[in-house]
Order: sequence, then structure tokens, then C-alpha cells
Amino acid sequence: MNWNRIVLVLAGAMTVALGAVQPIAGQGIPQPTPAVAQTQSPLSSTSAIAKEAESWLADLIKINTSNPPGNEQIAAMYIAAVLQKEGIKAELLELTPGRSAVAARLRSAVVPDPSKALLLVAHLDEVPVDKSRWTVNPFAAVIKDRYLYGRGAIDDKGMVAANLAVFIALKRSAAHLNRDVIFLATADEEASGDASVKMLIAKYWDKFAAGYAINEGGNVFLKNGKVQYIGVQASEKIAANVAVVAHGTSGHASQPTKDNPVVHLAAALAKIGAYSPPVHFTSIVRRYFEGLAPLEDDEIGKWIRSLEAPDRGEHAQRVVSEASPLWNAMLRDTITPTVLSAGVANNVIPAEARANLNVRLLPGDSIDAVINDLNKLINDPAVKLEVQPNAGLAAPPSSLESDFYNIITKVASQEFGGAPALPFQSTWLTDSAQLRLHNVQAYGLVPFPLTQEDLRRMHGDDERIPLASFDKGVDVLAKIVAEFAVSH
Ligand SMILES: [Zn+2]
Repeated sequence: MNWNRIVLVLAGAMTVALGAVQPIAGQGIPQPTPAVAQTQSPLSSTSAIAKEAESWLADLIKINTSNPPGNEQIAAMYIAAVLQKEGIKAELLELTPGRSAVAARLRSAVVPDPSKALLLVAHLDEVPVDKSRWTVNPFAAVIKDRYLYGRGAIDDKGMVAANLAVFIALKRSAAHLNRDVIFLATADEEASGDASVKMLIAKYWDKFAAGYAINEGGNVFLKNGKVQYIGVQASEKIAANVAVVAHGTSGHASQPTKDNPVVHLAAALAKIGAYSPPVHFTSIVRRYFEGLAPLEDDEIGKWIRSLEAPDRGEHAQRVVSEASPLWNAMLRDTITPTVLSAGVANNVIPAEARANLNVRLLPGDSIDAVINDLNKLINDPAVKLEVQPNAGLAAPPSSLESDFYNIITKVASQEFGGAPALPFQSTWLTDSAQLRLHNVQAYGLVPFPLTQEDLRRMHGDDERIPLASFDKGVDVLAKIVAEFAVSH
């Protein structure tokens, strides 16, 4: 079937359901490869479907969904076409022109029970690239040394393709489900704007309402060729932006003044850069470090065990924070200057200088308390702090006692050579916070074993996924979902 025909068929169907669908630029859009007939239960052997999923992933990488502008609708339509070939009806959920999520459901019963349903969720958009810094075309899905290169290969089209594989495997196997399984690919995750999961929930919640979800957010950490541990995200930090604004008197740069706002801003930022907010433990972080201590070498393990010791806790917190930017950010609120602006000409003292602080709060901490501490630290009446709109909302953590959490940790640990599965509080944001605010027990696990080196490329250059890790991840995800959602 040719792509334009798929688009026409889909557009016809979607127009009925949703009203207007944006026209699609048909040129260069990959079309899904034909479905392969399965002879045995695809959930007992996933190697064939993992190979198909590799080609879906490659096709998705070729659809540029850099956000902004996103253009996720093209990727959503591609997925709808893949599902349609399997006899699964997918719905495009339009958010803004050209930006859609896509959802599909495998039913367990005539009357759905949303409180039991399982959502397989991933996002279609990706961060932009600086092409000049890549060694390959980021949108060509180049395979080199058994790595698939491309923007989104890990974050998060890898998970989109893996979810799709597991969802289709369930359908092909005609497995008897004990709960509905819903596939959802969201838009605008990277920018949390007008097409994000928040809007999606507001507009279309009944299309994918669920009690449980698996999403990105946690990882399978590979070290020295072995899985060191599996971090299952059950909570995440909250983002807010704060403007630092210094005011002064504008004038001729030939006669420097004491109230030059550039100087005041720079002094304030220097203090912020040297400041380390106090350590707060959440129960998830405490359990994470307890599980991590025996996995690290003796020296750092000793300090991890001493994090809350009355006598040397403070020193331990410093050692552990300095050993890893991730650990540092798991232990405390963080305040990161990101954007600076001041000045209109080289020979003019400006009246105002501004900086943006990207603040990441631990769940339970408040931005007002941070502002209070920063005002004391800066201690300069010429400098004001302004909290910017759209600060994130704290979501309750997902339960570490739920059946789904137990299955995820048990299966992942078994499948990754007995490596421990630890609860994880991500320092980054995911769509799960919004789901948790709607009573979804959402867990983050990108099921592909990845090294720090590969994880580092995620929002950087030459993002890539080892194909063996992808295949393994599809298999592990299939086992998790089968154990939770298939009647045995
Ligand atoms: Zn992501």
C-alpha cells in the first residue's frame, strides 16, 4: 500500500472522528513494511517482532519531529497505518494544527474498567539537533557497528517502537487479557507546550484513562558490559524558571557607574553558582541509595551508607554529590543559570540585565522557599527574582507496593542477570507527572540496557541505540506486560 493512499484512507477516517486533519507532505515519508505472519506466540519469542520494530524505529527517525515545531501528526499517522495493517483501529488525537497524539486499545472486556487498564506511553517529539556536530545525518536512521543512529533513537522513539511491538505482539497472539492495554504516543513532551500531555488529558482523557502506565523516566544502567542496576522511576522533580533581574541607570560606557546592572547580575549569578541547596531525602531517594551502596566500590559505598549519619553525614553528602551530577541533583533542589541577556550596544550601560534560572525542585519542596533562600544569598536590593509562569505541579509518587511495580522489578531483575531494580526519582521531567496527577500508577523504565556514554548522547550529538539493546528491551517489556495483563 502506498503512503499517500494510507494517508487518504486515514484522513477520511479521522476527518469523521475528529474534524479537520492537517494536510501531510507525502514526499519522503517512509511507509511501514508489510506485517509478517506469526506462527507461534509472539510473546514467548519476540526476536521476529523486534526486527520489525527496528524498521518502525528507523522509519520514525526519518520523520523529523524536532520540537519546535514538532509536527508529530506525521509520525502519529505512520503509527496509525502500522496498527491498521494489524487490524487495530487507532485514533489520532489532534491538539493543535499538525500536532496529534495517537491512541489505540486492546480490549479485555465489553465494558472497560479504566482503573485496571495499562497504558504503554511514549512521546513522538524530540529535541532539535545541531547537524554540524553530528557525524551522520540525524534523520537518516544510519546503522553503523550494530548501532542505529538518529535523533530520538533513545529519547523516545525507541520506546515508541518497543511499545508498538509489544502491543502488536499481544494482538497477534490473541492473548486473553485481564485488563485493557492502551497504546499512547504523545506530542510536545520536550517543550510542555500547547500540544503536551496536559492538554491531551484535558481534551481526550476518556480515550486513554488508565490505572497503570509504563513510560520513559528510568533506565537500565550498563557498566563494564554488565547491567549494574535497573532504575524504575516512580517520582520526578518539578521544574520552574526564575528570572533574575538587575536594574540600574543607563548611561555612557566611558564613565562607569556603581549601579551597572550587568555587574550586579554577574555578582548575583556568581553567588548562585557557588551555592548548594540543603539535602532533603525523599523515601524513594533513600531506598535508591540503600540499594545502590552495595553495587558501588567500597570507598563510595561507604560514603553512600553515611549520607544520613549524624557525625559525618554532611561530609558524605558532599563526597557523593561531587562523585556524580545525577546523585547531586537527586539529593537537593538545583538552580541552574541558563540564559543571559543585557545590553543594547557596546558603548551603552544598560538599564536592565536579566538571567534565567532553571530550578528543579524535589517533590515536596516549594519555589517560595527557594526564592527566600536566594534573596538572602544575593542580598542586593538592585536584584529582584521573578517566578515565571507555567511552573510544574508536584505529583504524588507512584506506589512502590503496587502489583505492577512488583512485576516490573521482578521481571527486569530476572531478565538482566539478577541486577537489582531500584526505585528511581528522575531529575528530569516526563509525561508521568501529569498521569500521576490523574491517579495513574505510572512507572518509568526505558527497557534498553545503555551505558553512560550512550545515555549522554540523548539530548546531545550522535544519539544512537545499540540494536542488541533495543531487541532485548522489546523482549523485557513484552514479558513485563504479559505478566501483568495476560491471563495465564
Ligand atoms: Zn523523553
